[in-house]
Amino acid sequence: MAKSGTTPKIIVMIGPPGVGKGTQSRLLAEHCSYPQISTGDILREMARMETRLGLQIKATLSAGQLVSDEVLASVILTRTTQPDCKDGYILDGYPRTLTQARMLEKLARGQGKEVRLVSIVVPRDALMKRLTGRRTCVQCGEIYNLYLRPPKQERTCDLCGGSLAHRADDNAETVGTRLAAYEYATAPLVEYYRQSDRLIEVDGDRPVQVVFNDLLKAIEAQGGSPE
Ligand code: AMP
Repeated sequence: MAKSGTTPKIIVMIGPPGVGKGTQSRLLAEHCSYPQISTGDILREMARMETRLGLQIKATLSAGQLVSDEVLASVILTRTTQPDCKDGYILDGYPRTLTQARMLEKLARGQGKEVRLVSIVVPRDALMKRLTGRRTCVQCGEIYNLYLRPPKQERTCDLCGGSLAHRADDNAETVGTRLAAYEYATAPLVEYYRQSDRLIEVDGDRPVQVVFNDLLKAIEAQGGSPE
């Protein structure tokens, strides 16, 4: 994606849980050959380890609360200094607080990259259906929805044959806490990026491919030029 003469980009995808940021991040990553860095996936992986930190993260995820900015700072620094991030990368789910956004500004300056924020918007009542119907392949990470984008067989991934899982934090109770955390901690980021003209807003309440085409056009118009 980073053509000669253009500054490498960090594309940040945010939106409330269930908005489709994981799906859109994956499509964008494939399209422009940037790595997709999902902090939710990294934290779920850390939570599976029986270390002290892993167990703390597991408790925070099950409660639907946000993991601390310090843990996230270390996760992001470690991941984005890998060689595959040299030309740019997609952040799926980070930053989620203003402190994280300020930390990312410093990191981006140090890495010589520009940040763009893509905010995906979907009406709140549609989100519950999306979340309770969401199924993720445990093997390749492909995301389905039993109502909106069903797999051919209910429990099997169309792409790799892996089994499909319902995320532990996609139940009605935890989803309420996650939506509240989004409104309180993350929604203010939209204004933060709008003020510096780095905000791209996309209506996510449409078919996946329509949303993606819009998203690409908007990124190009902002000088993100994903080919
Ligand atoms: P996600 O897969 O993006 O929905 O994230 C799942 C969970 O991981 C969230 O509900 C948080 O508990 C945690 N998480 C992911 N990214 C962050 C972040 N940037 N800051 C704090 N917690 C996070």
